[in-house]
Amino acid sequence: MSHSQAWAARAQKVLTPNYRQQPLALVRGQGARVWDADGKEYLDLLGGVAVNALGHCHPALVKALTEQAGTLWHVSNHFFIPRQIELAEALLRHTPWAGRAFFCNSGCEANEAMLKLSRKFHADLGHPERHEIVSCVDSFHGRTLFTVTAGGQEKYQHGFEPLVPGVRHVRFGDVEALRAALTDRTAAFIVEPTLGEAGVFPAPEGYLAAARELTRKAGALLCLDEIQTGIGRTGRWWAHEWAGVTPDILSSAKALGGGFPIGAILATEEVGQHLGGGSHGTTFGGNPLACATALAVLRELEGGVLERSVEVAASLREQLLALRAGGRLVDVRGRGMLLGLALRGVAAPEVGRLCREAGVLVNPIGDDTIRLAPPLTLTAGEAAEVVLRIGAALAAAPASAPRKA
Ligand SMILES: *Cc1c(COP(=O)(O)O)cnc(C)c1O
Repeated sequence: MSHSQAWAARAQKVLTPNYRQQPLALVRGQGARVWDADGKEYLDLLGGVAVNALGHCHPALVKALTEQAGTLWHVSNHFFIPRQIELAEALLRHTPWAGRAFFCNSGCEANEAMLKLSRKFHADLGHPERHEIVSCVDSFHGRTLFTVTAGGQEKYQHGFEPLVPGVRHVRFGDVEALRAALTDRTAAFIVEPTLGEAGVFPAPEGYLAAARELTRKAGALLCLDEIQTGIGRTGRWWAHEWAGVTPDILSSAKALGGGFPIGAILATEEVGQHLGGGSHGTTFGGNPLACATALAVLRELEGGVLERSVEVAASLREQLLALRAGGRLVDVRGRGMLLGLALRGVAAPEVGRLCREAGVLVNPIGDDTIRLAPPLTLTAGEAAEVVLRIGAALAAAPASAPRKA
């Protein structure tokens, strides 16, 4: 029995069985690489689900975290926390339309805060009837009851009913459906600039601009879930910058802490004020350890990482597109360091397994997509290595049965 298999056997006895782990126990990481419990090395393009923007154990993050660990860990929001204030200032510098930040510990908590704030905003203005949330079918906003309701994926809701009332769903990318769904009871429209969990589907050209215009006219807020797409993932600080629109609130998490758990919402001055005294909170949110680490992430991105990632991402994309010649890769969706490989005639889980054997970790989604979320620090050499290995896995995968129409 391998060490990974031994860990798997122990896990099966003591952990709730909600995850479907790949059959590997990972024990060490450095940059874009991780090692399993048996000493095998992998290029990590799953990246802790788009979290490890600076790869593993980046020296600047290790330094920031350990320095903070020797200074002050946690005090709660009963006090001012200098690192938290600095982090808010740094995030707002990169987000000119926003005026207020709130910190929490994860993505779903950030979305929960964003949705609660949307209702509170209208309630404060004397319109408690404006409580409806419009969201997209097959989006992903997290696993709390409110966010799993917003996500609109039956498979994640089943058995957890009753869901949160007042949430309705429209088709992602469908401007007319959105127009029809927005009423004088709508608090907000929540949307991902690119559907991430569903397999990397960028919003169609013009969709976010239309959503901005329609929500404004309807008196509803536009809430962008940038948990996966933010913090440089698509080549800009925020993915909504590509669309040239600004929301009323956005949520961030995943890459924000580079692997240390932290979430945030950024809101306009006008809206953010309505998360008034005592209205919302969290014990751990924005604690010194999380904020010191996130500050180091931002400093690294500012210091050239983001710029360089754009170049490497362009070359990675180009090399991946060349794999289309093999006939099994039909498209490369997405932008920057968030890519969805659309497959044909081979099963994504099988390609994922072969990639793993070839020494590269990827995220198979459904039957026909492989999601890649490399660190923004991926080098050109590593990108070339990744493409070779993925190419070999694609070529080696057995043809899958043609899908029923
Ligand atoms: C990951 C993700 C979430 C949930 O974040 P958690 O930290 O897992 O709660 C929400 N929205 C999007 C778009 C995500 O990618």
